[in-house]
Amino acid sequence: MSGKVGFVSLGCPKALVDSERILTQLRAEGYSVVPSYDEADVVVVNTCGFITPAVEESLGAISEALEHNGKVIVTGCLGERPDEIMARHPSVLAVTGHADVDGVMAAVHETLPPDDSPFTSLVPPQGVKLTPRHYSYLKIAEGCNHKCAFCIIPQMRGLQVSRDAGDVLYEAYRLVASGTKELLVIAQDSSAYGSDIAHRESEFQGRQVGAHLVPLVTQLADMGVWVRLHYVYPYPHVRELIPLMAEGKLLPYLDVPLQHASPKVLKAMRRPGGAKSHLETIRSWREIAPDLAIRSTFIVGFPGETEDDFGHLLDFLGEARLERVGAFTYSEVPGAVANGFDDQVPEEVKRERFERLMTAQQEISLQISSGKVGRELEVIVDSYGDLPGEVVGRTKADAPGIDGTVLATGDGTTKIGDIVKVKITGATAYDLSGEVVGQVAWRPNVLTMA
Ligand code: SF4
Repeated sequence: MSGKVGFVSLGCPKALVDSERILTQLRAEGYSVVPSYDEADVVVVNTCGFITPAVEESLGAISEALEHNGKVIVTGCLGERPDEIMARHPSVLAVTGHADVDGVMAAVHETLPPDDSPFTSLVPPQGVKLTPRHYSYLKIAEGCNHKCAFCIIPQMRGLQVSRDAGDVLYEAYRLVASGTKELLVIAQDSSAYGSDIAHRESEFQGRQVGAHLVPLVTQLADMGVWVRLHYVYPYPHVRELIPLMAEGKLLPYLDVPLQHASPKVLKAMRRPGGAKSHLETIRSWREIAPDLAIRSTFIVGFPGETEDDFGHLLDFLGEARLERVGAFTYSEVPGAVANGFDDQVPEEVKRERFERLMTAQQEISLQISSGKVGRELEVIVDSYGDLPGEVVGRTKADAPGIDGTVLATGDGTTKIGDIVKVKITGATAYDLSGEVVGQVAWRPNVLTMA
């Protein structure tokens, strides 16, 4: 064995995928990954640097690892700002940027040279996963070509670099063959996938597939698993995917980060669109797939947002009736262009608008949830409940970690990872409850090892 490494993973699903890659490489080189600071010879901390609270959480995690172990390598988004880390924690061994597997491995090698034995590198075919076996994130591109005024991801993660479609599809195939039932497609802007590589084709199982969201997702849908799309910007070609949702090949779910509805605020944010175009797009999607669940996030209190602009956003939410809404009060991110904008909105006004938005949306969410009572819905089981026979899962309208859950009673035979039919008997604004009434047959179009 090469040595023992402790690992702390913070941040969003994209950072989680980076952690999985680093852990896979560590295992491939014979390192064992241990769950406590005491056992570890060195600790890797994968940080998040997106907003101020995330930076503080990351610096706190580094401090804890230093205190309990002493040998710490830092990677991830905050690693793109090494000066900030070294100023607070000068004793860290090395700092590397996001997705820098080679950089982390070089730092690990310096502290813990790898063992040459070929018998130590036993890695599962799907790599090391940090999610449960039944769902997996599939990162199709790194970085972002947009210049949203509140965001520093393009500075931290660079311009968009897409993976070849063949690479993505073979990874998906391996994951499904190893038991993944739900693939969650992620990128900073999934709709722009492949634009940086001229949508070039690559081989997957003897055919050529273009690096473009439509052919890629069509191939994923053919694998016969749940495929969920995140960070989809409402470009015209997204419409081509909606028929797949109507046919039941693709989950009728779209995570579309709209951020606002007032054209003036969106322009200041350096983002396209406005309530009118958002609504037209949403209507055209729902005409094809009426069951489509749309998730979106919004920023309240962006500099220059007037009461009128905020009213625009509330009106939009009232008309759009989105199934899932997340909202944040605007906060400065070190290095973001919007920090220098005039007309910053006072904190108490931001808070008050946030509360009003959430109250209005809760009513809409409750109406939508209540409409599900009495229906039988497919639910993927993530965990067991507190009482015997109870399970906790998600419908097709719920992504893990960010959307609602279903608490269902059962006879005790349902296992984590099963997809079951649940008769819905109760609803709150976010969550459902019900009773397991049957199993759903699981037949992926992939030769499984599971
Ligand atoms: S918020 Fe804008 S700039 Fe930041 S990652 Fe998303 S699309 Fe790119």
